[in-house]
Amino acid sequence: MKSVCIFLGSNPGNNPAYMEAADLMGRELAQRGLTCVYGGSCTGMMNQLAESALAEGGKVIGVTVQALKDKEEFHKGLTELYVKPTMHERKKLMIELADAFIALPGGVGTFEEFFEVYTLKQLGFHDKPCGLLNVNRFYSPVESMMGVAEAEGFLKEPYGQAVIQAEDPKTMLDLIMTAS
Ligand code: AMP
Repeated sequence: MKSVCIFLGSNPGNNPAYMEAADLMGRELAQRGLTCVYGGSCTGMMNQLAESALAEGGKVIGVTVQALKDKEEFHKGLTELYVKPTMHERKKLMIELADAFIALPGGVGTFEEFFEVYTLKQLGFHDKPCGLLNVNRFYSPVESMMGVAEAEGFLKEPYGQAVIQAEDPKTMLDLIMTAS
């Protein structure tokens, strides 16, 4: 495994635990020699992830869209920055560039990205590990909802088998690296 795509909030969140998780994830990726692929933003948890990985000597690839670049919403110090015309093309490239996907806490952008890679995996379009980092029990409601979907017969594969779950970045990366 060479690279991991991280989906996470463009905001910092209200609890310092979220920015701490972004910081730790960035450092852990760099220390393990893993390239970090992310949305390229210079705000919130996204910025923290990139800053921490770069500070630790890691490679960080940003994948953004022209409209966000025009608004200067991109990190200027990345190892590489790809700029795509649409959000669809952007996400397609992020998926191609990464060997695994991890979502940290975030908002609708993060949810949408995570559920797309999970859906594609369920349908067999890729077989890369997908993880959900349950910092501060942020994703426990998702786990409950997926339990309902499973019990009601809507999942091809039990959620606990399809998605790797952990509460801290070190454990998550250990599990992801074992699974890949
Ligand atoms: P959200 O969770 O709604 O804050 O959105 C974060 C996710 O959406 C990230 O994983 C990004 O890929 C994408 N995103 C949101 N804002 C930006 C931005 N300013 N630049 C690049 N990507 C963004």
